[in-house]
Amino acid sequence: MKTIKKIVRIFSRIILGLLILIFIGFLILTGSSWKRHFITYPRFEKQRADLWKKYKKPSKVIPLKEYKGILHAHTYWSHDSRGIIEEILPAAKHAKLDFLFFSDHPHGKLDSFPRSYHGIYDGILIEPGTESSDGCMVCPMDSVVLDWSKGQDSIIKEVVDMGGLALYVHTEKPHNWDNPDYHAMEIYNIHTDMLDGEKLAPLIINFTVNGKKFRHWCFRELYDEQTEILANWDSLNKKRKIVGMAAVDAHNNQNIRARYLDDRRVEWVGPNAETISVKKPGIFEKLLFGKPDAAGWVFKFDVDTYFASFNYVNTHIFSDTLTNKALKNHLVNGNAFIAFENLANATGFQFYSTDSDNHISGILGDSVQNSSVSALHAASPFPVEFKLIRDGKVIDKVENVYNYEYNIHSEPGNYRIVASLMLDKKWTTWVQTNPIYVFEETNK
Ligand SMILES: [Zn+2]
Repeated sequence: MKTIKKIVRIFSRIILGLLILIFIGFLILTGSSWKRHFITYPRFEKQRADLWKKYKKPSKVIPLKEYKGILHAHTYWSHDSRGIIEEILPAAKHAKLDFLFFSDHPHGKLDSFPRSYHGIYDGILIEPGTESSDGCMVCPMDSVVLDWSKGQDSIIKEVVDMGGLALYVHTEKPHNWDNPDYHAMEIYNIHTDMLDGEKLAPLIINFTVNGKKFRHWCFRELYDEQTEILANWDSLNKKRKIVGMAAVDAHNNQNIRARYLDDRRVEWVGPNAETISVKKPGIFEKLLFGKPDAAGWVFKFDVDTYFASFNYVNTHIFSDTLTNKALKNHLVNGNAFIAFENLANATGFQFYSTDSDNHISGILGDSVQNSSVSALHAASPFPVEFKLIRDGKVIDKVENVYNYEYNIHSEPGNYRIVASLMLDKKWTTWVQTNPIYVFEETNK
């Protein structure tokens, strides 16, 4: 009896020891995420709420409407997404978007347009586009079949000649930067930001702990200043106008989901929208599954929801109307800025120049003669740090103001604004505008 008791005692000590070890391991693995859950993120929430109370609508100077939306996102048409309009549209509405330019991966070499979703859906403009495997995105905006075997440069030329849009995406990778035809490049892409040293395991643990309540802060953990890409953009702009835009590269595909097929079997879908298994539902499934959502999913553990992507970073375009051609024309002209919307809604932000009579002489993206630019102005709905950048160098900085003015003394150059919000005692990048191109009058 004594021996049995002894063995039981030893065993229970071993089990207790193991449990303690597991618990310590769990704390080590998830400790920083719990700290974020109970301390850091609630503090951020409070700071953001306090910031939002400081909203002051800037008086509208730029004589165009402002539309915000998404360039570079994927739907079911791409092999690595299952996104359908029933889940895309509510997310876009929730994020208050006006437009979505999709960049679905092509099926084979021949690529027909229009296809998939296109048109106005409940007030939101949707334009189909293609993302090629070698880093460009095109929206032909016409009925056409593109033959990708012609090569990227030819396709870009063809699309631009027919009045479409051509963008360089994933700009961390090599591109033919001297191509004379492309209009714009990503100056921020969530996917690019993911690649620059982020470790996947801590991100997943943090999403598991905080994804439900603080998904926007989990997403913000990804953010790094895209120094090299911005430097490249500035240097390219010395040669010709290359517009900067933001990409969310939304796929809604980093998740584990399940749904019933028509034959009542269950399809489990994992990361990158790949099927894990198709099987008859067992007791496990029956216990786990809830009511189907709008897209038919009865179970989901998701990270990159459409809303989280759509609300992360937007491109704002100043345009006369909400049509695909008007948005394209104004984007190509550079009448656009990007904003990290999950920090604060940037609608109302403006950057423009005035002449010596204090009349508006240009807006972001415009090329203006230096004789017509007496001062540059920026206006923000929240108090920010304004940084003025000329040809890639910070030349002025003012903190904690809603309005900014700078006398350029007729100095030519490409002037752009970076506006940052105060978060946790640090100025955090919020808005990046396209430049105003001030050029020297030569016909004197
Ligand atoms: Zn993409």
